[in-house]
Amino acid sequence: MLSEIFFHKPSGIYAIFSVTENNNSNNKGVIKVLKAVKVRLYPTPEQELILFRSFGCARWYWNFALNTCIQHYQETGKSLKLAAYKGMLPTLKKEHPWLKEDCYSAVLQCVAINLNKAYTNFFAGRAKHPRFKSKNGKQSIQYPQNVTVKGDLLFVPKIGEIKAVFHREIVGTIKTVTISKTPAEKYFASILCETEDSSQDNPGGKTLGIDLGLKDFAIVHDGEEVTKYSNPRHLKRHEKNLVRKQQKLAGKTKGSKTRQKFRLLVAKVHEQVSNSRQDFWHKLSRKLVDESQVIVVENLNVKGLVRNRKLSKAISDVGWGMFVNFLAYKLERKEGKLVEIDRFFPSSKKCSCCGHVMNELPLDIREWDCPSCRTHHDRDGNAALNIRTEGIRVMTMGGGNPVPASGACVRPNTYKGKGQRAMKLEAHTEPARVGVR
Ligand SMILES: [Zn+2]
Repeated sequence: MLSEIFFHKPSGIYAIFSVTENNNSNNKGVIKVLKAVKVRLYPTPEQELILFRSFGCARWYWNFALNTCIQHYQETGKSLKLAAYKGMLPTLKKEHPWLKEDCYSAVLQCVAINLNKAYTNFFAGRAKHPRFKSKNGKQSIQYPQNVTVKGDLLFVPKIGEIKAVFHREIVGTIKTVTISKTPAEKYFASILCETEDSSQDNPGGKTLGIDLGLKDFAIVHDGEEVTKYSNPRHLKRHEKNLVRKQQKLAGKTKGSKTRQKFRLLVAKVHEQVSNSRQDFWHKLSRKLVDESQVIVVENLNVKGLVRNRKLSKAISDVGWGMFVNFLAYKLERKEGKLVEIDRFFPSSKKCSCCGHVMNELPLDIREWDCPSCRTHHDRDGNAALNIRTEGIRVMTMGGGNPVPASGACVRPNTYKGKGQRAMKLEAHTEPARVGVR
């Protein structure tokens, strides 16, 4: 299974991350990285004209297919399958010969596939309903094959060799090429290439699964090894101090002057604890975000958990939600991705090796052996690895198969400021999208 996640960078370079999971391998897959390089194109006036017509054909077919889907839905209450509107292409080409003359046929096939993706994302609740395309605004067409690079030229079927400016070498196999024209009449090509992953090339490109720990603050699995991050010592010292002062405060008579004095003291220590905690979260999130392109966390409904009294203190103290916020906005700045998986996913009880799910695994059991495959597991490391694997599964299913109703959401770059992390997935618009190929 191969899939890619696209991140739009305003600088004009796309950072692309991709995972190929090799099912034969036991715990880690072969990772292939898709990199997209965005280059500026300088078409000749003749080429501009051909591009103009190709954009027009792709747009026309998109709107036609979308309209057909909408009508079909209004008449039957059912959605139209990809094969149905893809199958209309030959007839359409006969009715409108320009559709065949002006546009490379694979481009139109791509339009159909992209519309299908847009609908899949819409039905999965991940995106808005696909919209009609306008001739005003950005135009784009996608080539799934037969585009090659020769020196400073990009060879595109039906258009020929277009002059391009490459800021970096194109390495690997070209998978797709998207040519776009901005409203300011600039032309770009986004060239997607597949290469073998080498961590040296991509030091910050890991996918991390993070489990919230009670003993340790966070347990991180990068697919190869586990790292545990406990709360720093100075934070523990502050916390002890806080508990001591709170106990003293509780012993004072209400309304007394000493009580007033201790209340102020407790407030000060509270502030210290809060500051050093935030400082720790900032440092840890910075470190993790620097290492990675994708971070997978459990979407813990913290409020729900806090109601469970046994865990309440530990959970409110670790402030998981705030930490995830820090991860989210730091990832957003580097065009990375935070994936939240469903909180009912059995991350702890599942064997990361064979998939066996335990009926029960009490909290005090820190290590266990899988009854099915006999693998010895460290509770937290196993959970973090499961979270990571589930996150990759969610991402690779992003634009393809529907995500189960209880499933997870992929959170793209939509950090909206403090405490507000909306989920939005632009299914079709060119810059930000999640797709499966
Ligand atoms: Zn097992």
